[in-house]
Amino acid sequence: MKFISIDKNDWAKGIEASRKTYTLFGPVKDKNGFLIKKLEKDILPEMDYTDCVMSAKSVIFPQTEKMLVTTLDESQKDHHIMKRPETDMSPRAVLGIRPYDAKAMELVKLNFDTEDYRDPYWCDAYEATTFVGLAINRPGPFDFSTSAGTGPFEEAGLDVLLADLDDKYLVKILTDKGEAFISACGFDTVVDEKESGMLFDVLKKEAEKTIVSHIDTGKLKEKTILELHEAPFWDDLAFSCINCGTCTYVCPTCWCFDLQDETKHKSSIRIRNWDTCMSPLFTRHATGHNPRSTKTQRVRQRFMHKLKYFLDKYDQGIMCVGCGRCVKSCPVNIDIREVCNTLNSYEKQN
Ligand code: SF4
Ligand code: SF4
Repeated sequence: MKFISIDKNDWAKGIEASRKTYTLFGPVKDKNGFLIKKLEKDILPEMDYTDCVMSAKSVIFPQTEKMLVTTLDESQKDHHIMKRPETDMSPRAVLGIRPYDAKAMELVKLNFDTEDYRDPYWCDAYEATTFVGLAINRPGPFDFSTSAGTGPFEEAGLDVLLADLDDKYLVKILTDKGEAFISACGFDTVVDEKESGMLFDVLKKEAEKTIVSHIDTGKLKEKTILELHEAPFWDDLAFSCINCGTCTYVCPTCWCFDLQDETKHKSSIRIRNWDTCMSPLFTRHATGHNPRSTKTQRVRQRFMHKLKYFLDKYDQGIMCVGCGRCVKSCPVNIDIREVCNTLNSYEKQN
């Protein structure tokens, strides 16, 4: 494992140098908080942020994405034949991504890159991207990442991990992609591997110790789907939900989408838009039938997918990295930590 040190006075110069090769994304302050956005010329990532309202998922899975395009103009070659449009898949880097959000990408990948089917849009974007993580020295009150199978210094899904040491970053280079990015920045102050590794461990333990929020997941696997599906608590859990979908849009592991065909004059496109399982329209069939027409059914679907179906299907933990965004953003205080603990401790009464 290679470690380097970056003096913060050299940070901006290095990041600017990387633009020759990479399109950059990173945390930027917006009127509603921090968002991960494309870093236009001269804009640097704001690395001293605490929480980011939205995760980096839109860098790989945009809110709206053109899938296919064609022309209806019969004088044109290949009219009415839908084709994937030219898309920029040159190298890009996400700077300052939180470790649990990079881990979330790995969970989402299980859905978009399978043995049976590879989603070329998601996979091509993922492969083009280098993830430069920023460890969380002081986790916030909503963070329950350590009990969701990840943590403030998680390395899964990252190419580089930075630890903020006030006047410098201690940098752990995790992959070849990470090495290429660091080299494009011109950062080359190699530091002692053993000493740096030990410092990372100390910082990790200190950060993990401050996490006060936890969930219990240990018994989820032993419950049957039917037992949980038919449990009596779903109406109560769903009662206050207003189906706004916020919890799904802010979630780094939610991937529901909808496909739409649009035609304007002689141009026709097929687009993919983020959608939400919390909306009744999401599952309404063309016949008008809706298999999840009630709010309780939709709330149950969201939590069963995250806490039971995904766990059973992939055996790689729950479909939640414990970032706490949905807890913080829900306007009626529906809390996945409470739902998870309710499912985990539920015993069917005979
Ligand atoms: S954010 Fe809260 S109210 Fe909105 S859909 Fe999610 S659980 Fe329901
Ligand atoms: S379910 Fe909530 S806490 Fe879990 S990853 Fe999604 S937004 Fe974060």
